[in-house]
Amino acid sequence: MSSSSAVRVAVIGAAGRMGGQTCAAVEAAEDLELVARIGAGDDVAAVVRESGAQVAIDFSVPAATEANVHAALDAGADVVVGTTGWDDYSRGRVAEHLERLAAAGDGPGPGVLIAPNFGLSAVLAMTFAARAARYFESAEVVELHHPDKVDAPSGTARHTAAAIAAARAEAGLEPSPDATQNGWDARGADVDGVRVHAVRLRGLVAHEEILFGNAGEQLTIRQDSFDRASFMPGVLLAVREVGSRPGLTVGLENVLDLS
Ligand code: NAP
Repeated sequence: MSSSSAVRVAVIGAAGRMGGQTCAAVEAAEDLELVARIGAGDDVAAVVRESGAQVAIDFSVPAATEANVHAALDAGADVVVGTTGWDDYSRGRVAEHLERLAAAGDGPGPGVLIAPNFGLSAVLAMTFAARAARYFESAEVVELHHPDKVDAPSGTARHTAAAIAAARAEAGLEPSPDATQNGWDARGADVDGVRVHAVRLRGLVAHEEILFGNAGEQLTIRQDSFDRASFMPGVLLAVREVGSRPGLTVGLENVLDLS
């Protein structure tokens, strides 16, 4: 049961696996009120505006998520995004949109929080990996997911690899050693110089291993998400926080106190 001061929330992709779970979590939260379930084919801006949603949560598909965010912003909502598929260009366009809205209004403007992963174990793994990165000669990322996932490598793995690459660059490390010469394309995706491998296997949910190596030693950081319920505390935290964070925030680690 929600109170009259509850934050009004719309869920985009509401009929999907994450969307459905998110609707249930919002309905169960006393300080939130689910005011709209939005699916493929709905006019996102119109539904968000008519429902009076203050926060829209997008768990749709990579091909639609950016357009959904722009539409929800135009309708006056802050936006929390869990859908993957974002890159520097799409994030940049959202940042520009936010700047335009902030310049046009009186206050600081709306906020968008894009989180490649809402799971605490995954966010901690990413954070620990970024901290460890500067101490190791070699670094690779392996992500393992259920075979119904449409994008590879996962947004979490790309985010992890990019953070490792940034830490390595800051520390002045050389590229990870790799003598591979043949053309079998078995070395995974190259994310800013860090190799990322994607496994798709029936029975898996969402898992990530970050491998660091030096001569004579190895550090493995591994996280496992076994149930989508594990994402819900992070999603609800993001919904509660996004209104006080104008502009674009990328990564739940920015909302958690991880210093
Ligand atoms: P899913 O079950 O396939 O759900 C996607 C939903 O979006 C479907 O109901 C789909 O409807 C709907 N949809 C398609 N196009 C749309 C549009 N233009 N506007 C609104 N809704 C639209 O996928 P999922 O497993 O829930 O995952 C959704 C996204 O979340 C994926 O990108 C996934 O990688 C990501 N994810 C993120 C996290 C995280 O922690 N950040 C965790 C898990 C998953 P139809 O079926 O009718 O097309």
